[in-house]
Amino acid sequence: MDVLLANPRGFCAGVERAIEIVEKALEQYGPPVYVRKEIVHNPYVVGQLKKRGAVFVEDLDEVPQGGLAIFSAHGVSPSVWEQGKQRDLRVVDATCPLVTKVHREVARYVAEGRTVLLIGHAGHDEVIGTLGQSPQNTRLVGTAEDVAAVDVPDPSLVGVVTQTTLSVDDTREVLEAIRRRFPLAKTPAAGDICYASQNRQNAVKVLAEQADVILVVGAPNSSNAQRLREVAERCGARGYLIDYASQIQPEWLEGATVVGVSAGASTPETLVQDVVHWLEEHHPTVTRQIVVTEEHVVFPLPSQLISIGT
Ligand code: SF4
Repeated sequence: MDVLLANPRGFCAGVERAIEIVEKALEQYGPPVYVRKEIVHNPYVVGQLKKRGAVFVEDLDEVPQGGLAIFSAHGVSPSVWEQGKQRDLRVVDATCPLVTKVHREVARYVAEGRTVLLIGHAGHDEVIGTLGQSPQNTRLVGTAEDVAAVDVPDPSLVGVVTQTTLSVDDTREVLEAIRRRFPLAKTPAAGDICYASQNRQNAVKVLAEQADVILVVGAPNSSNAQRLREVAERCGARGYLIDYASQIQPEWLEGATVVGVSAGASTPETLVQDVVHWLEEHHPTVTRQIVVTEEHVVFPLPSQLISIGT
């Protein structure tokens, strides 16, 4: 069996930064450090940080008055910042800079008097945070049908932003529907899908040209990992999303001679290597890296933490 390892795969710059923020906050301030929501959508990462003293909470009212709270990579609405102030919390923001960029786009559109159409998936933490930037001026659209039904006070004043981890192909369709219905809408050329999501999807497409099966390592609540599985299926491979190697069902691989492996942007490499070892243990394999794009993106830490450990 040939095993093709997608490159790039796994951690992106925003996830590396968010995890490092929790680690450095633990070093600087000592435990407990409170993290609002999963810092990134991966149970292994969350479990490792819990062992080091991070306490994960759903809401800031679970953080003691004056405590240290970290906001996750997915971003939060201004009302969460306000809540932090009310509770006198020390806050470190691990929002990915590419999500912050989308928040700024929303603010700019609203200042221009536009209604914002947010292309995204309801209920995802990033979407909740982006909607919260200006809830009264923002409408969530997930499909071309949503675009046909959306109610906008002035069709000539529309601005579009997207969730950063969407499928490039699905988003293109929704953007086209918006441009048809609202020809004057301000739309980002290719949406706000981040470099990491695009590169991982492109790499899976290349894998799918050869692979019968593609295993995507990632959590079910990881948007970008889910999209990788969908891209694999759309390109004709059988795609499976797994948190851990132990979830591989041997029958998935029946008849497969080439198996691709990729991982969502919040998946640590150790879980990918577990999958490779599982495949090597169960089948005679030759493993090859398929390099589609090289990434060199690094985001700086927040200034509160920059001096730590240096
Ligand atoms: Fe940032 Fe993209 Fe990574 Fe999300 S997937 S943390 S937007 S780089």
